[in-house]
Amino acid sequence: MSEHANPFESLQEQLDDAANHLDVGDDVLERLKNPERILETNLSVELDDGSLGVFRAYRAQFNGDRGPYKGGLRYHPGVTRDEVKALAGWMVYKCAVVDIPYGGGKGGIVIDPREYSESELERITRAFATELRPIIGEDVDIPAPDVNTGQREMNWIKGTYETLENTTEPGVVTGKAIESGGSLGRVEATGRSTMLTAREAFEYLETDTAGATVAVQGYGNAGSITARLLEEELDATVVAVSDSSGAVYNPDGLGAEAVKTHKNETRAVSGFDGATDELTNDELLTLDVDLLVPAALENAIDADLAHDVQADIIVEAANGPLTPAADSVLSERDVYVFPDILANAGGVTVSYFEWVQNRQRFYWTEARVNEELERLIVEAFDEIMARYEELELPSVRTAAYVVALQRVLKAYEEAGNWP
Ligand code: NAD
Repeated sequence: MSEHANPFESLQEQLDDAANHLDVGDDVLERLKNPERILETNLSVELDDGSLGVFRAYRAQFNGDRGPYKGGLRYHPGVTRDEVKALAGWMVYKCAVVDIPYGGGKGGIVIDPREYSESELERITRAFATELRPIIGEDVDIPAPDVNTGQREMNWIKGTYETLENTTEPGVVTGKAIESGGSLGRVEATGRSTMLTAREAFEYLETDTAGATVAVQGYGNAGSITARLLEEELDATVVAVSDSSGAVYNPDGLGAEAVKTHKNETRAVSGFDGATDELTNDELLTLDVDLLVPAALENAIDADLAHDVQADIIVEAANGPLTPAADSVLSERDVYVFPDILANAGGVTVSYFEWVQNRQRFYWTEARVNEELERLIVEAFDEIMARYEELELPSVRTAAYVVALQRVLKAYEEAGNWP
C-alpha cells in the first residue's frame, strides 16, 4: 500500500471516465461529483474510568436525487472526511446500478473500537445517534452497518432515535437484528451478491467455477461469507484468505467455515491448522489464482502491486480496493475487474428489502429475499455488460458508472434544479 490514493479523488475520476461516454455538461457533472452536505461533529462521552473521550464523527449526504440517502457507518481509526465523502458517493452510484430508489450517504467515527468496552461503545453510538437524529429518518437518510459495526450498533441507533422521537420507526436504520425488525438474508447479502457476480462473470467469460481457485483478502462479514458461498454454491476452491493478522494458504482448499470458526475463537485467521503455509497480505494478492476477491478496505492494490497480480478475474467485495492507477494497469493487462458498486451491492439491496418490510410490517421468507436479490444482481450485471459491449468501453467499471450516472442524471433532470 505504498501509494495512498485519496478515495474521494478516485470516485471523482471514475465519474469523469463515465461522463466521457455520456451527454452531460461539466456544470451538472460538478454537482454529481460532490456531496450535498456533511455533518462533522465531536462526540464527548464519559468513559469507564470517569474521563471524557472525544471522538470525531461524520455523516455525508452525497446525493438524494433518486431517494433518501442510504449508507453505512464505519468505526475505524482511518476514517477521514474524504473517505466518508467517497464512500457516500459510491453508495449513490451503487444504488443506481441495482436500480433501488435511494440516494447515497455514509458516516463514521474515528475510533479503534477494540480499545473500548461494550458499554463505552454503546454510549458512543447513542451519542452519535443523538447527533444524527435531526438529519436521519426512514424517508430522509437511513444508516446501516459498515466496517466494525453490525446489528448491535444498528439496534442502539434505532432505540435512541425512536425514544427521542417518541415513535416506532424500524426503517430508520437497516442491518438490524431479526427481533428488532431486521431482514432474513441481510447478514449474508454482501457475500451473496459477490458470489452471484463471480458466478455471472465466470459464465460471461465462459469459464467453469467448479474447482476454480480463489483468494480472499479480508475475512470479516463480506470476505468470510463470500468465501463460504463460493465453496457451497459454486464448488470453487478457496485456497487463501487473510485478515489484518496475515494470510493462510492451502492449495487443496482451506474450508471457509473452518477458518471462520478458528477466527471466531482466536480473532485471527493466522494459526489456522488446516493451512499448509502462512503468507503476507501482498503474497495473497499476487497468488496465481482464477479469482481474487479483495474484501478488506480501500487501496489494497496499488499500481506497483497490480503489475504482480496473477489472478484472471477480480470481483471487488470491498469498496474501492483498487487505486485508479492499479485499475489502469489491470485493464491494460486484460485482467477482468468486476466493480464494487455491482459486486457488493447485495448489502444495500437487502437493506432496501428490510426497509420495505419495515414499512409494510410484513416480513419475507429468506428464500424470497435471496430470490429477489439474485434477480436484481443478474439484471444489473446484464445491463452493465450490454453497455460494455455496445459502447466498447474500456472496463466493466466504466460500464457500471455509465449505467448508474445516466440514472442519477435522469432523476436530477426530471425533478429540475430547485431551489
Ligand atoms: P469487517 O469489519 O467485517 O471485516 C473487515 C476485514 O478486513 C477484517 O477481517 C479485517 O481484519 C480485514 N482487514 C483489515 N485490514 C486488512 C488488511 N490490510 N489486509 C487484510 N485484511 C484486512 O468489514 P466488512 O463489513 O466485511 O467490510 C469489508 C469491506 O466490504 C469494506 O470495504 C466495506 O465497505 C465493504 N462492504 C461491506 C458491506 C457489508 O454489508 N458488510 C456492504 C458493502 C460493502
